[in-house]
Amino acid sequence: MEKILFLEGKFSEKIWGGSRLKIEYGYEIPSDNTGEYWAISGMEGESSTILNGAFEGKSLREIYKNDPELFGSSKEEYFPLLVKIIDAADDLSIQVHPDDEMGAKYENSKGKTECWYILNEEPSSIIFGLNVDKKEDAIRLIDQRKWKELLREVPTNKGDFFFVRAGTVHAIKKGSLILEIQQASDITYRLYDYDRKDANGKLRQLHLEKSKKAIKINKDEEKIKIISKDGYDEKILTENEYFEVREFKIKNEVVFERKKSYLLESVVEGSGEIEIEAKTYPIKKGDFFLITNAAKEYKIKGNLTIIESNPVGA
Ligand code: ZN
Repeated sequence: MEKILFLEGKFSEKIWGGSRLKIEYGYEIPSDNTGEYWAISGMEGESSTILNGAFEGKSLREIYKNDPELFGSSKEEYFPLLVKIIDAADDLSIQVHPDDEMGAKYENSKGKTECWYILNEEPSSIIFGLNVDKKEDAIRLIDQRKWKELLREVPTNKGDFFFVRAGTVHAIKKGSLILEIQQASDITYRLYDYDRKDANGKLRQLHLEKSKKAIKINKDEEKIKIISKDGYDEKILTENEYFEVREFKIKNEVVFERKKSYLLESVVEGSGEIEIEAKTYPIKKGDFFLITNAAKEYKIKGNLTIIESNPVGA
């Protein structure tokens, strides 16, 4: 059975997209308005492709379905997480995602809880939650279009982490480069778009009523734990009911035991190699791969930062 699956994802062009996926990650992007790289995806029509081994050329969506033992025979019907890089050359709209309950009721979809690991070298900012403690106050400010008063803007620096639970109003701001790990759902309600018009002079569609319904006043719940070990530093960024995310800063050589059914690995800095049961593969910034249920342990060498995630309860 395959122990490691390297992945190639899909790009999507956006009006707010840029060219940093080429400049900083060396990807061949479709244009200088490339907003997203869906690096680890089992989404329909947007699935990543396997680059190595017996499954080369197959889609992650396909092997997740046909070869469940690679994933510890997960009970989730579809690959439950989605990992993206987002390059925002302009502000994204102010938005909110439904939770599982609302997603099931209105969209025949899961909800979307997501998290952000900041990659931009230059400081930027994001909209993360609201300046009010009660939903009724939020609705009042929305109806009065008092956006500045309503929206909480927070500064971001490389390596910062934000847990964005479904219902949290949020927006990625210009200058942000973000690794996003989320529930595999693509349901977004647009609350406000800075009254921007498209090429035809039209305002982008908003989803005000659904947004208002979806909004929750979530408390910040980041409790980052730092564990210093021999040869590497580990930060537990989140352990929530959908996924776990950890940052590993590896300085020379580390042997890891696979403790979860399978692991999603995103190399965000540096280069090195991974050795997995007598086979060695080079790895570098911008590489994404899965450690499957067939791998017992693996050794990573080099000087690199890896963001590792796994689904919970899947
Ligand atoms: Zn979002």
